[in-house]
Amino acid sequence: MQTKKVLGIGLAGLMLAMVLRGSLGANTDDLIPSESEPYPQDLLQRVRQAASTVPGGLATSVNFVKVAESHRTYAAVIEDGSDEPFISARTAFQVVFSDGTVMVDSGMDETVHRFYGFGRDEPYWQNVNDSIQAALRESQLILITHEHGDHVAGVLRSDYRDELAPKTLLTKDQVRTLNFAPQLPEITLTPAAARDYIVVDYEQILPVAPGIVLIKSPGHTHGHQMIFVQLADSRELLFIGDIGWSLDNITELKLRPAATIARVKEDPQALMHQMTWIKQVMDNDGIIVVPAHDDRLLARYADEGLLGTQLD
Ligand SMILES: [Zn+2]
Repeated sequence: MQTKKVLGIGLAGLMLAMVLRGSLGANTDDLIPSESEPYPQDLLQRVRQAASTVPGGLATSVNFVKVAESHRTYAAVIEDGSDEPFISARTAFQVVFSDGTVMVDSGMDETVHRFYGFGRDEPYWQNVNDSIQAALRESQLILITHEHGDHVAGVLRSDYRDELAPKTLLTKDQVRTLNFAPQLPEITLTPAAARDYIVVDYEQILPVAPGIVLIKSPGHTHGHQMIFVQLADSRELLFIGDIGWSLDNITELKLRPAATIARVKEDPQALMHQMTWIKQVMDNDGIIVVPAHDDRLLARYADEGLLGTQLD
């Protein structure tokens, strides 16, 4: 009888969920959500409030390193982009607290890096990846913006995977992609292996450390999220992962070119909603936007002293 009751609730819940999503009859397993909505006007306010829900001192600084480069053109990065070179920096970030660190993304080994070269030989720095591995091992918590190899392979394929997995937070959506539709076979995550990680699901925002809040942003991948970080000196950073590869995507509100959107299987509408919100909080609220791959911008942030260029 118990089974029957549970099944009844399950079916009712499923139907309700389908109605709420407005996707009755649609394939709910689609990697790309069928519909997306603009971010609510009070989202930043809610994120800031959530940022204070985990007691403890705020982070004092943020470091980043570049483990590899992919050489592209702006034409491959932004709609109507020029043939001018765009260097895609492959990065990992470290948020430094007085009593520990939180990592944002995890670098990658050279095998995974080669996947992004499309057969070309592009810069890769083994010593930098070694420093990322050391920082991951030293960290208290590892956050992943999204489930692509250049962001997650440093954990999934690490020699220290067993040590890193219990402090790596993955979302259910990220795990689902890594299981059913990994970007490359080398980063496949089986359900059995997924149990070694902290796997969470949340609706829109999730505070995870003092001043740090995850913001759901499916579109580039199904499991993509932004990471909001409030620093002790009151600066606020927003790690936007791959929502835009260049800050120009945000300032000009321009998506990647159609061919790239198709190749990556992105949801352009969701990305546009996200970029609109990011631009708004950048222009109106002084949020410092940190894309994962914009080499020129990250170098500028480093010059301005906003980001350190060595991991602690
Ligand atoms: Zn990426």
